[in-house]
Amino acid sequence: MKLLEGKTAIITGASRGIGKGIAQVFAAQGANVAFTYSSSVEAANALEQELNAMGVKAKGYQSNAADFDQAQELAAEVLKEFGSIDILINNAGITKDNLLMRISEEDFDKVIEINLKSVFNLTKAVIRPMMKQRKGSIINMSSVVGVKGNAGQTNYAASKAGIIGFSKSVALELGSRNIRSNVIAPGFIETEMTAKLDEETVKGWRQAIPLKRGGTPEDVANVCVFLASDLSAYITGQTLHVDGGMLT
Ligand code: NAP
Repeated sequence: MKLLEGKTAIITGASRGIGKGIAQVFAAQGANVAFTYSSSVEAANALEQELNAMGVKAKGYQSNAADFDQAQELAAEVLKEFGSIDILINNAGITKDNLLMRISEEDFDKVIEINLKSVFNLTKAVIRPMMKQRKGSIINMSSVVGVKGNAGQTNYAASKAGIIGFSKSVALELGSRNIRSNVIAPGFIETEMTAKLDEETVKGWRQAIPLKRGGTPEDVANVCVFLASDLSAYITGQTLHVDGGMLT
């Protein structure tokens, strides 16, 4: 049985990394997928074709998640083309790491806008149709860094911690409409975002993780399937840690 048959998902930032993994696993579970990206046009076209070949409806949209109006337009277009919005995955995110001593105001603001304001923008854009349907699942991508903090990532940690507070508040506001809002806090997931890191440092990290490996986009995607599907119908306001036991 496919767990997401007939449901439509919006996934932000799916041209690569975790978002791409989610899009692929969702299509395999029968979901129709509307995904966004920032600038990777070719990768997005290739993913769109790949997903369509899996027998679901899929479309990529170049849409800046940090822009309020673009989020509104995206939701309207997806509703028109797909007929419903059942699942929203706020996955788009960036890092601009620096010690507080050195970080610029611009790099602080940019990370907050793309990682946190985007979650407000997209959630605000989909709740009306979800309220009409009396059903919806919103999944927000935080990070172990949002829970624990990390030197050199004040901007990123603040954005990811902000997501958790926002998501819990949405759960409280919209529970009565059967709209659920949950957070995933991935640990170290090996993607392009982490490929920039020094290999020796990465080896050390793998050793420090109880499960002795970095996570894969699929590890995160499988938890998204659970939170998006009716298997989690009685779960809202929660943060699931997908980190190989890192925070234990
Ligand atoms: P990634 O490989 O760098 O991919 C980021 C994705 O977001 C890309 O598809 C990118 O599109 C898109 N994007 C960037 N800015 C955007 C914007 N303004 N509007 C729309 N889309 C935008 O990142 P990742 O490692 O898969 O991470 C995905 C999410 O998981 C992020 O929120 C990240 O903070 C979180 N996370 C990751 C890890 C990890 O270890 N990797 C751990 C914890 C949390 P383009 O390709 O067009 O640039």
